[in-house]
Amino acid sequence: MNISIKQMIETSLIDWEGKIVSTLYLPSCNFRCPYCYNCDLIMHPEKFPTISQRKIDDFLLERKEFIDGICMSGGEPTLYPDLPTYFKEIKDKGFLIKLDTNGSNPKLLENLLNFGLVDYIAMDIKSSLDFDNYSKAAGIKDKIVLEKVKDSIELIMNSKVDYEFRTTVVPLLHSNETIMEIARYIAGAKKYVLQNFSPLEKTLDPSFQKIKPYSAEKIQKLSEKAKKYVPNCCWR
Ligand code: SF4
Repeated sequence: MNISIKQMIETSLIDWEGKIVSTLYLPSCNFRCPYCYNCDLIMHPEKFPTISQRKIDDFLLERKEFIDGICMSGGEPTLYPDLPTYFKEIKDKGFLIKLDTNGSNPKLLENLLNFGLVDYIAMDIKSSLDFDNYSKAAGIKDKIVLEKVKDSIELIMNSKVDYEFRTTVVPLLHSNETIMEIARYIAGAKKYVLQNFSPLEKTLDPSFQKIKPYSAEKIQKLSEKAKKYVPNCCWR
């Protein structure tokens, strides 16, 4: 199976609200968000040794009593056609699965949903759903990718799975109106999370390290306004 886990947070209380999970990271991504802080993992995956599946399995099974499941993150996990097989093996061991995704592979998402292989989806919506804004925020060059993102939104909203949409709010990329446009687009969604941009040591575009994030008050106000369309809108 072509699934090479490159990083693992053994125990996380913050990646899935209310659950204790092990978070696994797959390398590479088809987006190039300028604020991405996982840039080494997406640009130089060869720098990271693969964690043996045996080690991951042993860890999970030894702690089965108190670990609810895994969170599969990245990079972009849906780049891997073997993801459904991998998830089936995890589920057969009795663990729940949360998937973090940029929504660019609705076909694989549909497969996961149809076969009950995912319990929670956190999908990023990088900007308002027009090509100019999306290409700036996600570094995509092809309009078809945006159509796939839209298909994923529709698929998730029409599914029975638990989910959240989330946007990392970055001053240079998102105005109040951008966030309202996203909220309008996903009106009626189960949950929308605004994540305040927090420049870390590294960002894919180094100039983004100098951007001053919006204040917490501003993000909070934005989330209050977005409740008009998605009542369960929150911020972190
Ligand atoms: S932030 Fe963007 S570039 Fe980075 S892993 Fe997520 S989708 Fe890919």
